This record gives sequence, C-alpha cells and structure tokens, in this order.
Amino acid sequence: MEDDTDAVDLGALPRWSERLIDRLDDEYGIKTGDLADRNFSDGRPPRWLRGGPTDGGGDAPDWIQSFCLDADPAVRRLWVEEGFLSTDPPWLETLVTGDEADVARVFLLTGNVDDYAFSPDSGYLPAIDRIEENAAKRKDWVIRYSLSNGFERPVRGEATPDDDPSPFDDLEIDPNGGDAATRTRSPQEALDGDVRVMEELLERSYDGGIALIVDNLHLLSPPDSANVNQNVVTDAIKRWARSPSMFQSENQVVLLAGSSEGLTRDLRSASSHFETIDVPRPEDRGDRLKFLAALYAGARVVPMSGIRLDGATRPRFEDRFGSGIAEQLRTLAERTSGLNLVGLENLVLRINADEEQRFTTEYVKRAKRDQLAQESGGILEVSEPDPGVDPESAFEGVGGLDAVKERLIRISDLMERAGSSETVRRSLPSGLLFLGPPGTGKTLVARAFANACGVNFAELGNIRSMYVGESERNLSRALDLIRSLTPVVVFMDEIDQTMGRRGGGDDSGVDRRLFARILQFMSDPELDGQVIWIAASNEPTHIDPALKRAGRFDLTVPFVRPDTEGRRSILRVHLRDRNASVDLSAADWEWLLDRTAGFTGAELERVAKEAVWTELSVGGETENVSVDGDSVRAALSAYSPPANRREFRRMEDDALVEVTSVDMLTESQRERRERLVNGE
Ligand code: ATP
Repeated sequence: MEDDTDAVDLGALPRWSERLIDRLDDEYGIKTGDLADRNFSDGRPPRWLRGGPTDGGGDAPDWIQSFCLDADPAVRRLWVEEGFLSTDPPWLETLVTGDEADVARVFLLTGNVDDYAFSPDSGYLPAIDRIEENAAKRKDWVIRYSLSNGFERPVRGEATPDDDPSPFDDLEIDPNGGDAATRTRSPQEALDGDVRVMEELLERSYDGGIALIVDNLHLLSPPDSANVNQNVVTDAIKRWARSPSMFQSENQVVLLAGSSEGLTRDLRSASSHFETIDVPRPEDRGDRLKFLAALYAGARVVPMSGIRLDGATRPRFEDRFGSGIAEQLRTLAERTSGLNLVGLENLVLRINADEEQRFTTEYVKRAKRDQLAQESGGILEVSEPDPGVDPESAFEGVGGLDAVKERLIRISDLMERAGSSETVRRSLPSGLLFLGPPGTGKTLVARAFANACGVNFAELGNIRSMYVGESERNLSRALDLIRSLTPVVVFMDEIDQTMGRRGGGDDSGVDRRLFARILQFMSDPELDGQVIWIAASNEPTHIDPALKRAGRFDLTVPFVRPDTEGRRSILRVHLRDRNASVDLSAADWEWLLDRTAGFTGAELERVAKEAVWTELSVGGETENVSVDGDSVRAALSAYSPPANRREFRRMEDDALVEVTSVDMLTESQRERRERLVNGE
C-alpha cells in the first residue's frame, strides 16, 4: 500500500489538469514525497493548474499537449524532478495576492524587471508582458505607458465584453495630445498631459478595474529632478497611493524601475504608502536550468514566442559537461550563476551564431565575465574558480606569506564543510581586511583564496560616480549581482578610497548612504558563509572604524614585504611561471637575496621577468630558458626600485598595529608590532 499521508491536496481541479497530474504521477510518482514538495510548494497545485476564476476559466495551455506527447523524455523528467511545474515567480504571486487582498493599489517593482518571466500560457516573456498578461485575467483593461512610447493600445481584459468601449474612447483629454498638438508640445507639456490622462483613467470606475503599468519609472522620476515640473509624476504617484477612492476602486498601478536608488528620494520616502516588490535575479541553478531546458527543448516543452531566440536548437557541449542532455544542461546552469535569463539567452545566441562553436568551460567563463561586466556597467569583474583545485595548490602561485596562507587554507576548509551547519557558517569571518603596501600580494592572495574555496571571485570596482544617484544605483546593481553569484568572494581594493570615512568626501550624504548600504548587506544573516568580503588598503588609518567592528571586516591580515625565504620563494614562483629553470649557486642566491632586501613581491616579479628577458635577448633558446648568476646580475643592474621605501615601511607599521590575530605574524613582526604598540 502506498503511503499517502504526505499527498498533495488536489482539491477540485479542471479535467485537463487532473489528467496531467495523473499522467505525471504514473510516470514519476509526483503526488507524494519529494517530487510533490518540489512541484506543489504549498501542498497544493500551483495557481495555473488549479484554473478557476483568476485564470480565466482554466483551459489547458496548448503546450501541455505537446509536453506530454513530444518533449524529449529526458527533458520532461528533468522538468518534473526539478519542480518546474510550480511556476509563478514569488514576486508575481506577491503582486497578485497584494492586489486581491487590498494590501495596496500602487505597486513598485524594482530589480530584475528587464528580464524574462515564465508564463504557463505563453512560455517565457519579458517580465512586463507577463505582468500585462496576468493583469488581463483580472482587470477590465490593461494600459501600458512609457516615456518613449507614451500610452500603448489598451489591452482588453479576458472577461471584458467585446463591445465595451476602450477607456480612451470617452476621455475628455486626447491621450496623444492630438497630431498637431504633439508637434508643438514641449516634452514637459507632453508629460504633464499624460499624467492628466492617467489621473482621469484612474478616476473613472470600471467593474473589474484597470491596471496601469508604467515602465522605466526612473526616467520619469529621476533622482536629480531639480526641475519642479519633473516632480509631477512623483506627486501624482504619491497621491494615488494615498487616495481613498483608489482603494475603493478595483484599479491597480504597477510601476517598474531597475532599482529604487534610481528614483527620487521623495518617492522612496513615500514607499510606506505603496507596496515595493523586489524582483530578484535568478538566484538558484533551478531558474536557469528551467529556462535552458525550455530553450533547448524549444516549443515542444513550452512556447517560446516572447524571446529573441526563435526555434529549438540542439546544443553542442564538450565532454566535460557530462553525457546526456539533462546532465549537460545541469552543468551549464551550475556554471552560469550570476547571469539572468536575458544573459543566458545572449550566451546561447552567441553559440548558435557560430557553427563551429561548442560550449566549453573556457567559453562559458569568458562569456559570463563579459556579460556581468557589461551588466554592472563595468564595476563588477567576475572570475570563476579553476575546476578541481584543492586549497593547497590554489596558493601555489603565492610565494612566502606562509602564516597567512595557512590561516586562509583553514578558513577555506571550514567554508567547504559549512554546508547547512549554522555553527560553522556563523564562525566564519564575514570580512577580511588585507593591509599593507602596494605590490605585496593582496589581490593575488584574494584570488587564490576564492580558488581555494572553489567559489566565484568578484572584484568590485569604484562605485562612486560624479552623477547624482549614479553611485547608489551602481552599488545597488552590484549588490544584486553579488547576491546572485553566491557563494562568492567579493574583493574591494583601496577601500580607504572607495568607502572612505563616513561623513568625509565632497558629498558626505552620498558616502554615508553607500556606507550604510554595504554594512546592511554585510550583516544580512542569510548571506553568512555565502559572501566573504575581502577589502584591501595601503592606508589603514584612513578606514572608518565602523568597518573594522566585529561582524564586518573582522579579521585583519597583514601584508609586509617578504623576508629572505619569502623572496626566494617568490622569485622561484615567477621563474617557474615563465618556464625558466634555475641555475643559481648558493653564492648567487645569497647575493641575489641580499640585493633584493626590501623588495615587494611585484618588484621581485619584475626582477624574474628581467632575468628571463636577459637570457632571451642574448639569443639563447626561446623555450626551456635557464636563468643563471649572470642573468640575475644583469637584471638587477637594469632595475632600480622606486625610492619610496620609507613610505612602505610606514604602511607596514600601520598594518602591523591594526592586526588582530598575531598568529599570522612571524617572530620578528610580532616584536616590531610590540614596539609600535608601546610607542617605542
Ligand atoms: P595594490 O595595493 O597595488 O593593489 P597588491 O598588494 O594587491 O597591490 P598584487 O596586485 O597582489 O599586489 O601584486 C602585484 C603582482 O606582484 C602580483 O600579480 C604578483 O605577480 C606579484 N606578487 C606580489 N606578491 C607576491 C607573492 N607573495 N608571491 C608571488 N607573487 C607576488
């Protein structure tokens, strides 16, 4: 006897939906256990399978037929195993239930609003079309507006009789301002006119209400709207949000903006009157996998009319992606964290454009890095870990710094074991502060650390911008991307300059807000053990103390110029990197290490490079170069380190004083620190 205790509560379902569920139950047993949990997340079939009034009578979407008959069985199985039957993205569910439960009449959707969203009726559509489609099931009319297109032709609700006049038919104002008028109206007059049309539309009563969808709100209500007239939109929205007559009506206003930071502060501060819904980027592999499965199984799984890629394609994968379509798509979804669906589609379009091209690990890495750099406006550069690297070998390219490496390897071990253990996750440092002079390997070690942990490495560039609101928008975009890249090591170089001190800088208000935003993000418990921040600085005294507090950048790691053994090992690393063999006697080494005392890792790299170059330039072999005493002497006579030794020494002293864990210091560094702390 089958144990039915966890069975889904099917309730009353349309016939087609019952048949579909029965069929999938025969094939995969989806009514109970894990598969039921995955596909029927709240113990009930999702809204689209239930049909009913909110889904327009509940006919089977056309694709169901072909899904059952034609879809590649491996893809169908994947679909069910991954729980893709449960469809509505949570943000859409919030929008619908918020409206039905009269929580608000004005909704602001921010974040990943320019991406695709899945619709059981039409497959993947631009999110705004998905919102429109959904609204047409519930409202009499749906009206879209954007700065560039003005009002689009109203869409009739599914239950609206064919002979009902369009809401524009008996407006007192001409929505397009009349042909002649359009030509003479200034953009401001046009916008004022449009807002009046919106007001009039919302004031009228319709049985089922209208939905007004406003796209790209940030263009209509930008943060730097010094111009009083530009505030017309902000003012109108605030009025609608509070208006009792709006509440009594069935109307709904849906506003879309890439990020709330791109909006006027006035509007943001009024947000208690409307409902703000965050549209997240695809955070887990599942969202990407579902889209890929749909792309590759093409119209046979879901209709894909709303996207740029037309028709099903057959993917070509290198062997490392596994065998069989399901495994290959799983690997691809795994490797594309951070990309949204439009980004994934770009990737597939590019592959398709080149007959010779296949999905290779390298190709995906490169495409992902370019895509993310472009999406973040160049402020986030992402690289993937090298596959199959163990923590020890991840640090092979780092010479010296033994105690630092040892500590970081222990942290990466712990990270790997963290899994779902709350205790382990919470004992990981949330942020590491790398302090020391330039060229001592801070960036190099941060990269190696991400590799040791086997996670993405994201370098956050300068988020500050001279344009009002732009810095906040940049940061917000970057944080959204970071969230979708987890687990991830995020690196911020020169944090004293990018973050500075609160209240410092020319526009202290902006600095303070950026600062607060990062601190807030860092203290999100959901991200414990998922995002490890590493900040680097040469000037620790310029860093705001609030950043160094426990729970933020709470582990300080010192970077000082290498001692004798450190120099030897760094030189070896860089000679090996250039495939050069070392032919140095003990006396040559002694001379070399003595002459390079006080050099940074970067300077030692220069010396190694110069030595190899010397060998090459005397006409020796181009492969298997051997570096000997003569070439290092020639290299050193050609290279003179910059005369800022004293500065470097001071930066090291500042770093040593800041160090919190003395176990990362050598004996002599510990003594040096002791003297500095005691003011000797
Ligand atoms: P900055 O403060 O200027 O950003 P940094 O401390 O981050 O400097 P890196 O960019 O990591 O310095 O180092 C520059 C280059 O110097 C590295 O790419 C690497 O080639 C070399 N280097 C520095 N330290 C080491 C080291 N310990 N082992 C091997 N190479 C090193």
